[in-house]
Amino acid sequence: MLNRLALLTCHEMGHVLGLDHNFVASTFGRGSVMDYYAPRIKIRPDGSADLSDAYMQGTGSYDNHAIEWGYSQPPQGETPEQEQARLSQIVSQGLAKGIVWGNEADPRWNAYDEGADPVSWLKQVWPVRDALLTRYGPETLPPGEPASRLASRFPLIYLFHRYALAAAINVIGSAKIPPSLAGDGQEPIAVWPAPSQREALQLVLKALEAKELEISPDLWKTLAPREPGLEDPERFISSAGYLFSPQDGARAVVDLVAGGLLDAQRMQRLAVIAHESPGAPSAQEIVLALVHAAFPATLTGANSKSSEDILLVVQADVTEHLMLLANDASATPEVQSTALAGIDDVQKIVRSREDPAARRLNREIGLFLSSPQQNTPKLKPSGAPPGPPI
Ligand SMILES: [Zn+2]
Repeated sequence: MLNRLALLTCHEMGHVLGLDHNFVASTFGRGSVMDYYAPRIKIRPDGSADLSDAYMQGTGSYDNHAIEWGYSQPPQGETPEQEQARLSQIVSQGLAKGIVWGNEADPRWNAYDEGADPVSWLKQVWPVRDALLTRYGPETLPPGEPASRLASRFPLIYLFHRYALAAAINVIGSAKIPPSLAGDGQEPIAVWPAPSQREALQLVLKALEAKELEISPDLWKTLAPREPGLEDPERFISSAGYLFSPQDGARAVVDLVAGGLLDAQRMQRLAVIAHESPGAPSAQEIVLALVHAAFPATLTGANSKSSEDILLVVQADVTEHLMLLANDASATPEVQSTALAGIDDVQKIVRSREDPAARRLNREIGLFLSSPQQNTPKLKPSGAPPGPPI
């Protein structure tokens, strides 16, 4: 915690010295105290978490670079032209070393990450989440601590991948857009490589699998309600009242993934990039992959009743997100028609099934298609805590 506070102090002193945030800095090592980092958690061979190097110490390459540009003293008798040349050289030396600042819409611009790029970061985060979830339980509470604390901290573990998922989703339908000057050698728009976009898609869709969303019955039994009268914004607000609902947990992840993928502007960027850059994933490809992930080939793709329960949550939520996009006034006709095609695919699947969840979805789709304005579904809130630690 002292390391965390030292980093925070450096960060705030950076603001005092005039530095803005640099949320790209985690892509070139711990490049700046002006980033927000995820704690670096290593998993030991016995499965326990090693936090000894959780936060960066000292300043980063970007900080030293920016302070050199802003504060180094000019040599005696330097003319304005010489000063301009000296400062430009500092910038070009920084760029040559890969020290960059960014645009907040750039897919590399992410808070609470730490990795060379969002896709490799998500791959790093996944096994850490698995390990933390496997060991999460009453043993992590010091004797005498309220049992309810376990449910309070649970979202930190269950949703440990939330920022990494969001960052990986952001590379889909994206381009790097570094602030650039004529002649500085940077490409002002560089479409994110298509193979990496597709890898990101496969990874984020994995988060929708029932086995990734399930928790064990033993863990569920330990997620006790809060004590009377104590508010706690860090907990799930459960749709089951005082008991934690794993279905709510699933809804939180689906909202992140389906809501993130089916964003109207992202869908339009996908259409634009596929138009300009042959071989890039299209909006249709994303919708098709999402529908396939939510509706596996067998009835529900589940191998137990309990994972079937979870999968039905995923199916309802994905379908409802598609309907929201199809009726999103900010979406273009081409994006709306892509969403409608996804809804048609879901309709064919649910019409072939007899279970109550399928009948409900079929009815909901029928009503929506007959009168979209009146029958746009309202998403059931997941009750997940807001998230950002600041
Ligand atoms: Zn700040």
